[in-house]
Amino acid sequence: MIYDIHTHHHPEEAGTAIVQLTPNDFAPRPGHYYSVGLHPWDITGNWEVQLGKLAVMALHPQVVMIGETGIDKKNGSASIALQTEVLHEQVRLSELVHKPLIIHCVKAIDELLAIRKETKATLPWVLHGFRGGTKQYEQLKRAGIYVSVGEHYNEEFVKEVPLTDILLESDESYGIDTIYELVNNDMAMDETDLRQRVWLNIRHILGWEPTPPF
Ligand SMILES: [Zn+2]
Repeated sequence: MIYDIHTHHHPEEAGTAIVQLTPNDFAPRPGHYYSVGLHPWDITGNWEVQLGKLAVMALHPQVVMIGETGIDKKNGSASIALQTEVLHEQVRLSELVHKPLIIHCVKAIDELLAIRKETKATLPWVLHGFRGGTKQYEQLKRAGIYVSVGEHYNEEFVKEVPLTDILLESDESYGIDTIYELVNNDMAMDETDLRQRVWLNIRHILGWEPTPPF
């Protein structure tokens, strides 16, 4: 059961999280699931080589999502034009290998929505580390973009989000259990039910209905 959609650490129990790796550090361990991609912070001179490597890794059965990729107007070192180009490449790859995208987006929601429209992407995208409110979530959802919440989330949002759309992540923060405790309190739900819900939602996004295909 995967109940952490985005983390940079291998979970204690294999198969409970989607572990984020870059093309350079991809070394799959037995039983774990991964997302692999080129983060907007990691775009350097050899980005084309990185994307070439990524195209091969994307086919690996333990890689279940492409990314994180996206646009970061605050912390990205590459130009917005280059970040956009690298995102476009990963959108194409995601559609080609039929694996959804995990998105990192800082101060660029309008650009993200425009790219979603422009690329006519058919697979779901998941914007991780979502701190916005219900209005922004609704706008994203209409475009085919899910959102996942972690350490810094908007309380109003988790109180209002439909159970079919709730996704949780630990990212770089303290453990996923603490995130569940916090969100659980705000949603006034049973913790086991919430984990089951998130797993169901992740399965839906990955197209694993009703169970993993391998
Ligand atoms: Zn991350």
